[in-house]
Amino acid sequence: MKKHNYSAGPCILPQEVFEEASQAILDFNNSGLSILEISHRSKDFVDVMEEARNLALELLGLEGKGYKALFLQGGASLQFLMAPYNLLKTKAAYLNTGTWSSKAIKEAKFFGEVKEVASSADRDFKYVPKGYFIPSDVDYFHCTSNNTIYGTQIKEFPNTPKPMICDMSSDIFSRQMDFSKFDLIYAGAQKNMGPAGTTLVVIKEDILGKVDRSVPSMMDYRVHLNKASMFNTPAVYAVYVSMLTLRWLKKNGGIAGIEERNEKKASLLYSEIDINPLFDGYADKADRSNMNATFTLNNDDLKESFDAMWKEAGINGLNGHRSVGGYRASMYNALSLESVQVLVDVMSELERKA
Ligand SMILES: *Cc1c(COP(=O)(O)O)cnc(C)c1O
Repeated sequence: MKKHNYSAGPCILPQEVFEEASQAILDFNNSGLSILEISHRSKDFVDVMEEARNLALELLGLEGKGYKALFLQGGASLQFLMAPYNLLKTKAAYLNTGTWSSKAIKEAKFFGEVKEVASSADRDFKYVPKGYFIPSDVDYFHCTSNNTIYGTQIKEFPNTPKPMICDMSSDIFSRQMDFSKFDLIYAGAQKNMGPAGTTLVVIKEDILGKVDRSVPSMMDYRVHLNKASMFNTPAVYAVYVSMLTLRWLKKNGGIAGIEERNEKKASLLYSEIDINPLFDGYADKADRSNMNATFTLNNDDLKESFDAMWKEAGINGLNGHRSVGGYRASMYNALSLESVQVLVDVMSELERKA
């Protein structure tokens, strides 16, 4: 039986994508060949790469606005250093909202001065700082749109004349916003876009070429742009499955359509967390993530039965990140409202029995 998969990443993808992706392993485009054995330079795959790059820009509403999309390797973690490598001249501003921002800050320090404009470390990253000041002498401002581990999400992004870089790994394509506010967006595919192995990078081209240092080829966005994301062998299968997922998203109403469903799922679960006396939300209400809901069970004696009950209900991946504990329900695009209802039913059943 198919599980209700709340895994934080790699994570659930649409069932029809799994089916189509399986078929392509056996026979891709009726070519008599598996997608795993063809050249990345073959027309069939070049078409996949181009469609993936175009779909990403189209869904984000960034077509014809000076942006290009790349599918690179090395995860979002490589972007922590690739971004400053290409963009940090002397000083950059970072907003610290959790583990991933902290890691991005650590890497940026190899390239220049980092000004942490605000941090929510003082309250275990339960909130998103607001009203901070971005100095005018920085090369860019960097933030993390959704904090996968702590379950917070930036609802309003600052206005700054400086280039804005955002790690959107865990909420890209989940909600509408004016993506043209950003100059560089990156996201590891495995949270909301595809399988592990590729990273989407969306760049406004005119921010490049301003640093003096020499940048090694594999680290240089311009090299990858010049080669249409084919400078070296791309993660063929991961790009293909991401492309299928983006097609699925487009067919299902694009970001506007999915946002509506994501809001329904999140409000269903958060209402249960708030109404059920056995559970407490981890993050401040105003900053709660619609993707990763973090919560705790306030009676340790019930932990064993709760864990047994949700497993029995066919739920997978509900344990919180090892650094936070408790529970985390990751409700990425492909998770259905019905799956959320199953979890909510288990939570209220626990209350009834307790
Ligand atoms: C998972 C995650 C990362 C790390 O991604 P990798 O692809 O494993 O390098 C970075 N940022 C955020 C917000 C994440 O959720």
